[in-house]
Amino acid sequence: MKPISNKVANMKPSGIRKFFDLASTMKGVISLGVGEPDFDTPWHISDYAINSLYNGKTHYTANRGLLELRKEITKFHKERYNQIYDPETEVLVTVGGSEGIDIAMRTILEPGDEVIVLDPNYVAYAPTIELAGGVMKSITLTEENEFKLLPEDLKAVITDKTKAMIINFPSNPTGGVMTKEDYEKIVPIIKESDIYVVSDEIYAELSFDQEFASLAQFPEIRDQIIVVNGFSKAFAMTGWRLGYILSNKYLSRMMTKVHQYVIMSAPTMAQHAAIEALKNGYDDVVRMRKDYENRRNLLVKRLNRMGLKTNMPHGTFYVFPNITPTGLDSETFCNRLLEEEKVACVPGNAFGDSGEGFIRISYAYSIDHIIEACNRIEHFISNLG
Ligand code: PMP
Repeated sequence: MKPISNKVANMKPSGIRKFFDLASTMKGVISLGVGEPDFDTPWHISDYAINSLYNGKTHYTANRGLLELRKEITKFHKERYNQIYDPETEVLVTVGGSEGIDIAMRTILEPGDEVIVLDPNYVAYAPTIELAGGVMKSITLTEENEFKLLPEDLKAVITDKTKAMIINFPSNPTGGVMTKEDYEKIVPIIKESDIYVVSDEIYAELSFDQEFASLAQFPEIRDQIIVVNGFSKAFAMTGWRLGYILSNKYLSRMMTKVHQYVIMSAPTMAQHAAIEALKNGYDDVVRMRKDYENRRNLLVKRLNRMGLKTNMPHGTFYVFPNITPTGLDSETFCNRLLEEEKVACVPGNAFGDSGEGFIRISYAYSIDHIIEACNRIEHFISNLG
């Protein structure tokens, strides 16, 4: 056989999946590993999609997605986040946020272009950048600064070769968020350097304690921002595989070309489900968010009480406790926790070098599940002496 692409042959499988697969082969494991809502999709949303099938809506849609859906998306973004986009020319419906990140990278990058990422970060960014020919440059985020992006760090990493930056707030895996005031400090740097920013806002609706803020709210850089969002987290719709990209007209047209050839159009049934989600599903979002918030409060309290310093995350459904007091590295910690107590978490180093010394715990699980997992983690730690 001839050799396949070097980039693909050398690509490491996701560190999240590795633990998930391991845990699923063992009996009695409590998994706090995977980042997806434990809630099923609210029934009225599924029902609406089923009805669309009864009514013969089984064909391709426009490449950009159904106009009715795009109108609901822009309405939602205007009302909820004050992000203003034109449904006809500035929205592209994608197969999850995942496709959004991929086609944004493939649309804007030339081989050798540098892309800034914030470390730790979501596991898909590095491979996506690499497949598109880009070169990743990392900024280390720190626990002391609540895993926020600081202007001096951004300034220091930008070069003539920098084409783009990917940010993700609220952040997977840290739960960190940026406020409007935090963004105000970096807006002038983004404007001056003229870079694109892919803003992965998939956890926007899972913002607690404070209002969600976005770079797309700043008119002076609005045309440089590519907003990636979707239905997976907010509406508990991971399996429907539906997301979208909001960007200026030109970028949206260019990304639609890539989408047109690799996807054609996002699944029609899922697009119908999404229309119902946006029209009538906001009460569900609020209900689930309240539940996540209660679980977060319990989990953070328990972890800190057992000596694992844990920042209060203001978004997502993850906490990122510091495990360095145990003397174990993150991979050993997670391996031993799985073997000895049958609890699956994800080692922080799966999210980049700066994640070492931390583990990611998802609280998209029931309260009972979380309490039992905390009991086991506490037992594990006390046994370490
Ligand atoms: N971005 C982040 C930060 C995520 O955590 C995820 C899912 N884990 C995605 C994007 C992709 O989500 P989806 O493709 O389901 O919309």
